[in-house]
Amino acid sequence: MPICGVLGWPVRHSRSPAMHEAGYAALGLEEWRYQLLPVPPELFEETVRGLPGAGFAGANVTIPHKQAALALADEATASALAIGAANTLTFQPDGRIHADNTDAPGLIDALPFDPAGRTAVVLGAGGSARAVVWALVHAGAAEVLVWNRTYERAQRLCAEIGGRAVQAPPPAADLLVNTTSVGLRDEDPFKALPLRVDAMDGYPCLVDLVYGTGPTALVSAAQAAGATVVDGLEILVRQGARSFERWTGRPAPLDVLRAAARATAAPA
Ligand code: NAP
Repeated sequence: MPICGVLGWPVRHSRSPAMHEAGYAALGLEEWRYQLLPVPPELFEETVRGLPGAGFAGANVTIPHKQAALALADEATASALAIGAANTLTFQPDGRIHADNTDAPGLIDALPFDPAGRTAVVLGAGGSARAVVWALVHAGAAEVLVWNRTYERAQRLCAEIGGRAVQAPPPAADLLVNTTSVGLRDEDPFKALPLRVDAMDGYPCLVDLVYGTGPTALVSAAQAAGATVVDGLEILVRQGARSFERWTGRPAPLDVLRAAARATAAPA
């Protein structure tokens, strides 16, 4: 029985098990299972090394383990190495552990247009921003401007990955991506971020990585301004679909994954 799972700490609210198990059922993969794997940092490596022997084919990795996942892997994709984090581990028949980062292609899959030649503003310079900036730069975006509350962190990110750090983002760009955690706890994004609620029409497309039980304030404001919106659940679905395909070798049933992710009430 092939088993997959999601490693995190905490991870109990993850929507990934519902999403992947719905996908297995839709494709008739009756033997496949997907489990929550709550693991504290001090037990991460020994737990991962024990997973292949317990029948695991692969595992998603979430906060706070993405860097540790890359560090313990025997081999990794160029994107995972450049981003410095892995969210998808695959246990190969020869015992080697392969690491990938599907957050980056997942973002590109979720966009309503090809970002090549387009301009983008990325808010945030944490772990998820690294994948977003790498993805946009490597997809050929004309300009990727990175704003962060702590400016030096944006400068460091851009020096390592690409893009250009800015102290104040321009009022217009083809794409605005929020990778900060603002919105997770109902903060007012128009106080915490360098955005004006009456100028959201400068950004015809918004991606907000944050998600909860309903639309974030940023998503609502962008929708009111007529923007195309990609919310955090769609980003979750797209990265999960890439992992699903790597492990099962089958195209992910996107509509099924999407419905399962959206049906799960708890935020995570
Ligand atoms: P992280 O590494 O901890 O980075 C957090 C970022 O948010 C930093 O840039 C930080 O700025 C900024 N920030 C935090 N509080 C702020 C505030 N009050 N005002 C302005 N900026 C603030 O986190 P992460 O892993 O990148 O995740 C960020 C968010 O994306 C989380 O909400 C997470 O749930 C979400 N996420 C969603 C998905 C998905 O699949 N949808 C995937 C990954 C992450 P400083 O550097 O100044 O502290």
